[in-house]
Amino acid sequence: MGTVSLAGAIEAGDRRALAKGITLIESSRNDHRERAARLLSALPAPRVPALRVALSGAPGVGKSTFIEALGLQAIGRGRRIAVLSVDPSSRLSGGSILGDKTRMEALSRKPEAYIRPSPAGTTLGGVARRTREAILLCEAAGFDLIIVETVGVGQSEVRAAEMTDVFLLLLLPFGGDELQGIKRGIMELADIVVVNKADGGQRPAALRTVAEYRNALRLLRPHTPGWCPVVEACSALTGEGIESVWGHLLAHRRVVEIGGELEQRRRGQSVSWLWEELSEQLMAWLDQEAGIRVPVGEYEALVAEGRLAPPVAARRILSEVLARAVRSVPGREGEAPGPALHSDPARAPGGGETS
Ligand code: GDP
Repeated sequence: MGTVSLAGAIEAGDRRALAKGITLIESSRNDHRERAARLLSALPAPRVPALRVALSGAPGVGKSTFIEALGLQAIGRGRRIAVLSVDPSSRLSGGSILGDKTRMEALSRKPEAYIRPSPAGTTLGGVARRTREAILLCEAAGFDLIIVETVGVGQSEVRAAEMTDVFLLLLLPFGGDELQGIKRGIMELADIVVVNKADGGQRPAALRTVAEYRNALRLLRPHTPGWCPVVEACSALTGEGIESVWGHLLAHRRVVEIGGELEQRRRGQSVSWLWEELSEQLMAWLDQEAGIRVPVGEYEALVAEGRLAPPVAARRILSEVLARAVRSVPGREGEAPGPALHSDPARAPGGGETS
């Protein structure tokens, strides 16, 4: 299937086409990247911007149970939900993590839900990139609630926040008065904090936890201007409190829409994505070019021995690669490189500037 007809099939709601599209964007093969780019440019813009939610919490906190409860609730209100995950480390920590068939069983049987497990063996950067692209595919396929799930405690949360509109942090009730091992940076990202498992004997502890986090969050700068983070208890198991969380998500949406924050944030996210892509694509190209044509190993040795400062070495490598690239442009073979592009063997690598 060509990329244009694939885009058409995705838009028409063909789930197999959507899965195929996501598999294509997950591939790092050069020709696949090119087809993926064609696919992305053939996609229609979604009619209404979807609600993009980052959901984070430690393994075992009840994320899949919660997503299932929230997803079924949202479907009952006419939504269509896609669940994507950003976390390569979860596969290493083993157990019933992403992609496990028993996760979100009731939700995955719904035609209004699409659950995409995380690809194995990818780097965080790679997962983040394909997740951003997968969001676009899911939105084109008519999913208007996108959950980006993370399990790590750190970098993957920041990446998830960079591609979503609202950040929901799931926590466990605790007995003592110590905040859970949640890094301050993650707390600062949170727009909505939900203490799960507020049922049975754990309910009093959950309510105490809510009170403590309400206090703690007052001291932090809100992640979204105009929105004070809310802290709520729920039980994903019994469903108690889930409706209220859904209400907070919609309230947050109204606030960011009215204040223009949503549009501003998405514009900012798109521009940073552009620069990230550009630097990744440049690096990939440089890697290939430098690997083939420039003695990077010699520069590495000079840097390792302290004979050349890394910034100087980087400039030299770049100059050499560019000089060679310019010379290889058809019709420009044999042309001398400009003065900035020193190909003078006496100057490269080593001599001249020192560290
Ligand atoms: P995840 O690893 O964060 O996705 O967590 P799961 O959703 O797989 O849940 C881990 C365990 O906690 C499972 O045994 C769930 O049944 C249980 N669990 C999840 N939510 C609740 C809840 O609200 N209350 C109680 N009591 N148990 C829960």
